[in-house]
Amino acid sequence: MVTGLGVTVGFHRLLTHGSFTARPWLRVALAIAGSMGFQGNVIDWVAVHRRHHAFTDRPGDPHSPYRYGTGLRGQLRGLAHAHLGWLFADDRTPAERYAPDLLADPAMVRVARAFPALCALSLALPFLAGWAITGTLYGTLTAFLWAGLIRVALLQHVTWSVNSLCHVIGSRPFKTRRHDRSTNLWPLALLSFGESWHNGHHSQPSCARHGLERGQLDPSAGVIRLFERLGWASDVHWPDYERIQRRRPDHPQQARVLGGD
Ligand SMILES: [Zn+2]
Ligand SMILES: [Zn+2]
Repeated sequence: MVTGLGVTVGFHRLLTHGSFTARPWLRVALAIAGSMGFQGNVIDWVAVHRRHHAFTDRPGDPHSPYRYGTGLRGQLRGLAHAHLGWLFADDRTPAERYAPDLLADPAMVRVARAFPALCALSLALPFLAGWAITGTLYGTLTAFLWAGLIRVALLQHVTWSVNSLCHVIGSRPFKTRRHDRSTNLWPLALLSFGESWHNGHHSQPSCARHGLERGQLDPSAGVIRLFERLGWASDVHWPDYERIQRRRPDHPQQARVLGGD
């Protein structure tokens, strides 16, 4: 949960989209927690994700499942690319262009440089905890396996599923930009800490809550709300319900709004 929320609340909602302002220590803590999720250093993660929003499902999107067309074979190949294959593509996203704000932030540069050490720590902690709690080799290795390797793999696949499945299957209650095929996929809502309300997110990227409709569980938004109550987060971009209604495909102002942003 710590590394997962580091990715969703820290890397994604705070650092990529600026959906709230965090106290400086909280900003660093979230960046450290997210780094321990093995998803790349914080600055590169933010740069890639901003590029995904800039070119969603068009040429230039680093991980669109539509890269190989919409035929059955192309779609399956595209899903594999969006899920995992894109990580091995020779397609660097320049941080100077997409994340100059983070490159100018000495604390974020330090966290980014510490990425390999934070990954090592992310595996060392469960190993040490297993040893401290059980005092046996079996306990140490099983803690390392479940709270280390399997925890990392599970989080990776949940994050990658937002990139792959949440652009192909699910519902699209809100209009997004042309070509953008982002979807809401409820079975992943809890596991992804609210990130699978991806159509809601693409319709209002800087909103702190992705589950824009009643009953859409969004644990990351709950954590941001808690931070706000504790006085650690301010200027939170909560949903503007008037704006949400205007994003519905049948709203009369739709054409004008889509031209707006
Ligand atoms: Zn997306
Ligand atoms: Zn985003």
